[in-house]
Amino acid sequence: MTDIKTDLFVANEWRKPAGGERFAVINPATEEAIADVALAGSSDVDAAVAAARAGLEGEAWRGLSPRKRGALLYRAGDLLEQNAEEMAKLETQQNGKPFFESKIDVAMTVETLRYYAGWADKLTGDTLPVDGPFFTYTLREPVGVVAAIVPWNFPLNLASWKFAPALAAGCTVILKPASETPLTALAMADIMVQAGFPPGAFNVLPGGGSSTGSSLVKHPGVDKIAFTGSTEVGKQIMRDAAGTVKRVTLELGGKSPNIIFADADIPAAVRGAQNGIFYGKGEVCAAGSRLLVERSVHDQVVSELVTRSKKLSPGDPFDKNTRLGAVVSQRQQETVLGYIESGKREAKLVAGGNAVKVNGKGYYVEATVFDEARPGMKIVDEEIFGPVLSVMTFDGVEEGIRLANQTIYGLAAGIWTRDIKKAHTVARAIRAGTVWINTYNFYDSAAPFGGFKASGFGRDLGREALESYTEVKTVWVAL
Ligand code: NAP
Ligand code: MG
Repeated sequence: MTDIKTDLFVANEWRKPAGGERFAVINPATEEAIADVALAGSSDVDAAVAAARAGLEGEAWRGLSPRKRGALLYRAGDLLEQNAEEMAKLETQQNGKPFFESKIDVAMTVETLRYYAGWADKLTGDTLPVDGPFFTYTLREPVGVVAAIVPWNFPLNLASWKFAPALAAGCTVILKPASETPLTALAMADIMVQAGFPPGAFNVLPGGGSSTGSSLVKHPGVDKIAFTGSTEVGKQIMRDAAGTVKRVTLELGGKSPNIIFADADIPAAVRGAQNGIFYGKGEVCAAGSRLLVERSVHDQVVSELVTRSKKLSPGDPFDKNTRLGAVVSQRQQETVLGYIESGKREAKLVAGGNAVKVNGKGYYVEATVFDEARPGMKIVDEEIFGPVLSVMTFDGVEEGIRLANQTIYGLAAGIWTRDIKKAHTVARAIRAGTVWINTYNFYDSAAPFGGFKASGFGRDLGREALESYTEVKTVWVAL
């Protein structure tokens, strides 16, 4: 894993794109091009789908017992662990996040591989208590060729949330990484070959969303799309997948509420609020981007938050003291700054608000906090996907719940209180796929993650994700 891989990875081979097209990957902290990556055109997509289908139907993959599939995933986890530093370095170079965060991402990817390795030989059907002289049972079969289309915020980790359960279930995978961040997906291909995955089981096709991604979604040889990304693109994928009745799971955007009640441990809640929005530069689908604070503790919470946010200045992602890296691209920086301008007109800016450079370079944005925000403002209603927090005040549990649910999204929520009854009552009342009580931004391979409402449907992680890569077949035997 010493040199950066930049070609298409199909059937365990590195291939040049048929059309010869390539695109640059930029390090957002230095503004430098770090790689020139192959762009998969439609004939490359056809070839990859053919390879994945051949892989699916060939003895080398289909003939492996579930336990042996699991063994390959364990080996991939071990190899990734051995290459963790290098992989994390590549992730930081292409994404701009602090190096320590990339190391956490890689460690979580290792865990995901191991978790699903363990599931491979534990996926079972049922015997069914039907009426009549029958023996009736279900089988869980692989759904087939899976195209995993993923975003740039956790490039390798979010990809593993799809390809690990898909492979554990016996599917074959074509991974389409985001244009900003294809390098760790490509590096993973080397690891998968070394682990022993046969040709066609794991393929990587870098390329544009509306070209490569869209061709995969419309391709009759692909059985399922596992997507993480924006709600807009998710809607387009649903429309495009309809033509071939593909299975689709969608992990989309969010505008998650973090609710601080007056009876909370306030210093812990403020740390949680800060971590909830500024970890990953706020480029986290579950970011706690709406902070709801009960009126009597509002002033204290905001003043502590402002003090902490001002200390969180953006820095070189490879400096070990850096807690806020560069946003992923110049385009994303412009989008975030556009929201900040709109926030300045509508709400009260209390921290940050500016683009900055570090050592004269890079697409950085300060940790930004707006107070006196209300629903109806763009910074409250729309996903910003950057280090920008909107603070709102509420009175009492009912208003807290109402404000929390006043969004088209439903990915996650945080609740800070010492009252156990209130905590569980509010957790039930919130329409979101994950609720954190007195903590925020925790993930585990065993814990399903995904959205309600416009945040999508289907779940990553846990048994739920594994089952979404299977078809259920019911078999009737007359006795
Ligand atoms: P995006 O524009 O939706 O892109 C996601 C992926 O889809 C990329 O690989 C993209 O390729 C591809 N794509 C774009 N248009 C496509 C099309 N018409 N057909 C098929 N594929 C297409 O999202 P992003 O800008 O990369 O990431 C930010 C968004 O992702 C945010 O809104 C965030 O909330 C969401 N997100 C959600 C979760 C979650 O778990 N729910 C996690 C992370 C991020 P290109 O890169 O080439 O455009
Ligand atoms: Mg995009």
